[in-house]
Amino acid sequence: MSLVFALAGNQNSGKTTLFNQLTGSNQHVGNFPGVTVDKKEGVIRDHHAGEHHRGLRSWGHPRHKRADIPAPAPALVVDLPGIYSLSPYTSEEIVTRDFILNEKPDGIINIVDATNIERNLYLTLQLIELNIPMVVALNMMDEMRANGSTVDVNRLEEELGVAVVPISAAKNEGVDELIEHALRAAEHKDYPKRQDFCTGAVHRCIHGIAHMIEDHAQAAGVPPYFAASKLVEGDAPMQRRLKLTDNELDLIGHSVKEMEDELGTDREAALADMRYTFIEKLCAETVVKNGESREHARSVAIDKVLTDKYAAIPVFLGIMLLIFWLTFGLIGAYLSDLLSLGIDIVTGWVDAGLTAWGVNPVVHSLVIDGAFAGVGSMLGFLPTIVTLFFFLSLLEDSGYMARVAFVMDKLLRKIGLSGRSFVPMLIGFGCSVPAIMATRTLSSDRDRKMTMLLVPFCSCSAKLPIYAVFTAAFFPQHGALVMMGLYVMGIAVGIVWALLLKNTMYKGNPVPFVMELPNYRIPSPKSVALLVWDKAKDFITRAFTIIFVVTIIVWFLQSFDTRLNVVTDSSASLLAGLGRLLTPLFAPLGFTDWRMVTALIAGFSAKEMVVSTLAVLTGANTATLPVTLPALFSSTLAAFSFLTFTLLYTPCVAAISAVKAEMRSGRAAVGVALMQCAIAWVCALAVYQVGSLIL
Ligand code: GDP
Ligand code: MG
Repeated sequence: MSLVFALAGNQNSGKTTLFNQLTGSNQHVGNFPGVTVDKKEGVIRDHHAGEHHRGLRSWGHPRHKRADIPAPAPALVVDLPGIYSLSPYTSEEIVTRDFILNEKPDGIINIVDATNIERNLYLTLQLIELNIPMVVALNMMDEMRANGSTVDVNRLEEELGVAVVPISAAKNEGVDELIEHALRAAEHKDYPKRQDFCTGAVHRCIHGIAHMIEDHAQAAGVPPYFAASKLVEGDAPMQRRLKLTDNELDLIGHSVKEMEDELGTDREAALADMRYTFIEKLCAETVVKNGESREHARSVAIDKVLTDKYAAIPVFLGIMLLIFWLTFGLIGAYLSDLLSLGIDIVTGWVDAGLTAWGVNPVVHSLVIDGAFAGVGSMLGFLPTIVTLFFFLSLLEDSGYMARVAFVMDKLLRKIGLSGRSFVPMLIGFGCSVPAIMATRTLSSDRDRKMTMLLVPFCSCSAKLPIYAVFTAAFFPQHGALVMMGLYVMGIAVGIVWALLLKNTMYKGNPVPFVMELPNYRIPSPKSVALLVWDKAKDFITRAFTIIFVVTIIVWFLQSFDTRLNVVTDSSASLLAGLGRLLTPLFAPLGFTDWRMVTALIAGFSAKEMVVSTLAVLTGANTATLPVTLPALFSSTLAAFSFLTFTLLYTPCVAAISAVKAEMRSGRAAVGVALMQCAIAWVCALAVYQVGSLIL
């Protein structure tokens, strides 16, 4: 049996950095059942014991000497989501407390940002109530030291009743000691020495209720004191979990009312007040801050510019523009070229090999036109994803992302989102795939799902060639205007859709904003590298699985006719047949030619395919397409309706597979795709029908 530790702490407290230090590279990512939050698990690395082994082996007597060193028990650490409290308001907080209550880890490692200790201890007090052996890792001690600030660690331990180990996760200081303390606490079952930090009316109320519900709490496997304090806060999931009778609920209601009357505040404020009073007193006794810290002073100075009332948005747009230019232009393009060169070379070898071997032409086409072309074009996304996530993790780790969220929060709250959704949506204008993958940084499940549903309305850059060809063919005079109109229409439909979601499927509030901003910090290269690698691995896996299957299906539809003969004329293929079959469905939108519908179906695998399919089916190439295109459309209005549909309909298969990965549900992903098609259909219908009336 190995020991299991839960790693809990606020966002930006250094949790990821510590997790990486604790586990080295032995980590495994799973997910919490029911929610799309990553569950990262890792084996805690050998600490001192490991050094002994290495030392002994060089003596040449490994067997003999090893016997008297106890084999280090493998210990697991589970990285929990970054949270500020254990209330039931966000799915992350629920995930965290359910994990601890249901899985009963052997110990909790609570990471606390020493430079922001008051806010961080708020979670600590609640974790202590869970009555599980616990160690506080007091992080960022390097910064404290550099500023001449000190913490009386012994006093802090005494008052909190749990071990406190000062560390610097970034500099890997104190981590060995932390591991030792954690192992010892878990092995000896050192429970926190005190649980209640309350006085007066709150004390009477919590203890009275704790006694009353003790049997229910034990039956439900919840520490009575924790259960009682949650009941005092009015926590509905806890009421259900404890299966209280109406009578008991009544009694609880009365004693809470009694407390509220006595204190003159409501129940939640009373508990928050009690915790903060304790924390303030504790910090006054143990923490000596040497004036304002350098980091804080620096952060305030930087913020004078970066979050200035007027400069904030232009600066932010400037930074994003630079990132976009670097990602989609300079670096991305360079890496893309390099990658496609590599793919071309390998494809060439395989092609030559198959030809030399005299393989059946259908199999040859399957390998080259299907598998290699499909996976090759999907791998073309990889440079974008890698560079974009490199920059994103810099923004996140440096603390800038929190500022962006802060500036955008008010605006996005109007459509039911929090400021954190802004960056993923902005990335959506470049490419939906990394945008959807980036929603994982959002701290609530509701916000994450809603953002994912809205990303496709930000017209991605792969749709640009379609717009370019169509404006050249139909709106040569007003190209820029039409282009602008499309982007604005995407955003407008997105806003309407968000308002609809906010009032139906995703009722409730986006995560409340935490006003305190973290100090700016230099990002740690290890965290950045690990995140980029994580995302790249994620995408490569999908390129070779789900995306691979879809591209093979599209290849099959393009290459064969209904009698499974290989087609020579592309208009005889199964894909064209499917297009013909579906044409009546699109007639009300003004799409009367089957070739338009076929192009849209092909666009499902990648948006660039719309243009190339139209070219193939009209016997043109991409350069002459603007000339041949008007023959397909009955009017300019029909062309605009077609553009509306392409703007809004389902993004490519890579994006859908990203939705599937993030929502952890294939059904949800198919649902999202169908929903997008339905919205596109309705909007194109409106454009065509209303337009026909006016024109
Ligand atoms: P998380 O949000 O809790 O996962 O926090 P991260 O691990 O991403 O860390 C947030 C920021 O704090 C990053 O820029 C880290 O490099 C930095 N950081 C983490 N631990 C330390 C530390 O001990 N000292 C200093 N100076 N910076 C740290
Ligand atoms: Mg993190």
